[in-house]
Amino acid sequence: MTKTYEVRTYGCQMNVHDSERIGGLLETAGYAKAEGEPDLLVFNTCAVRENADNKLYGNLGHAASLKAKKPGMQIAVGGCLAQKDRDTITSRAPWVDVVFGTHNIGSLPILLERARIAEESQVEILEALEVFPSTLPTKRDSVFAAWVSISVGCNNTCTFCIVPSLRGKEKDRRPGDVLAEVEALVADGVVEVTLLGQNVNSYGVEFGDRQAFGKLLRACGEIDGLERVRFTSPHPKDFTDDVIAAMAETPNVMPQLHMPLQSGSDDVLKRMRRSYRREKYLGIIERVRAAMPDAAITTDIIVGFPGETDEDFEQTLDVVRRARFGSAFTFQYSKRPGTPAADLPDQLPKAVVQERYDRLVAEVNQIAWEENQRIEGRRVEVLVSDGSVSLGGGKKDAATKRLTGRARDNRLVHFVPGDAEVRPGDMVEVEITHGAPHHLVSDAPILSVRRTRAGDAWEARQGRTEVRSVGLGMPQIGVPDPLPAAVTACAAG
Ligand code: SF4
Repeated sequence: MTKTYEVRTYGCQMNVHDSERIGGLLETAGYAKAEGEPDLLVFNTCAVRENADNKLYGNLGHAASLKAKKPGMQIAVGGCLAQKDRDTITSRAPWVDVVFGTHNIGSLPILLERARIAEESQVEILEALEVFPSTLPTKRDSVFAAWVSISVGCNNTCTFCIVPSLRGKEKDRRPGDVLAEVEALVADGVVEVTLLGQNVNSYGVEFGDRQAFGKLLRACGEIDGLERVRFTSPHPKDFTDDVIAAMAETPNVMPQLHMPLQSGSDDVLKRMRRSYRREKYLGIIERVRAAMPDAAITTDIIVGFPGETDEDFEQTLDVVRRARFGSAFTFQYSKRPGTPAADLPDQLPKAVVQERYDRLVAEVNQIAWEENQRIEGRRVEVLVSDGSVSLGGGKKDAATKRLTGRARDNRLVHFVPGDAEVRPGDMVEVEITHGAPHHLVSDAPILSVRRTRAGDAWEARQGRTEVRSVGLGMPQIGVPDPLPAAVTACAAG
């Protein structure tokens, strides 16, 4: 009988990307995705989140009881926490069959087999990348949107971040390999790709071309059928004007920028070892907006970094007000074992951090809401979501009969399909009737629907051509679950 698997993903997009590879590898090895209780449960872990290890051992405890009821079930732990804690995992949770690291995802099927035959846990952690994960088979959640890794690892040493010690130095994939993967994805029905790297702006450092990222964006613009290109994460330190020009001059590169700020205080940035300053950051935003007036700019911010004063925090609020972010992932600083910042003096009391955090969130939300209201009355093109990770959202809202998708600037849009035949992966044009704090709403009739190859691919995957619409009054389909709650952006980048 075919063995089944389930992958539980924690942390950032890099882990989501790796999980797609893990799924692909397992399916190549003969496993099938589990509908119920799996024969193999894989935890793809994150070390960035607070209490990540406690949560992992809690989950592993639950997995042990599943395993006790299901002889032959295997449990594997991979990702950043596995890379960091290695042997600790099998000593604290001896029922785990395989521990594998971030550099050897490709070994998972062999390790599982070895564990089965030897009847003992297998731990294999490599210090350097063996095979670029993108070259491994993949099992994408979405048929029309895909992550494409352009680099792994990071050469920076931000003091709050564990990534460099777990993912290693930056390794860049050759542009030809990246573009070949994008072309293959497009041939497969994909219309949107997100180029992925811890610091996309330093792409090319390994092969000696500092303008490689801008060139890569322009080359993506030449790929027929590729409608939307996004990227994450850029680093303000390495952001150059040729990238802004490439974004503005390449029609399929979306008017959107998620650029981590982390702090608006130069002193705090220094202690974070983030080697840009607030004026440089604001200068990039100004030039992006001059080149792309409708670009939506979003960010990550950490509040309460050790030694952050009231004045430092005011500086962050000042940048937030000047930058007018479309949204922000906001984090309360907390110590991460293994990071340099964990040993810094002047760790702040929780109450101080909480009070600043609340003020920051209120400010960010108010600005985001105002920015969304500015879009009321505009026509926007929406790529209809199937709830895939890169698109988010996606459930048909039973109460309001709305569907969701993403605008070109990546804003989440809820719209009413009416009687129109709309499939995930198709493009619709709608008029925004209401800007809410975290999304846009169109309650007006759809202005146009464009059926796409991506919609065809989605339909083909459903394997049922008789159900073609998710519009009101039409037969309903089961749209996959939206973004798993555990999968959110991390504070890296
Ligand atoms: S925060 Fe981002 S840029 Fe800084 S070290 Fe971590 S991965 Fe690298």
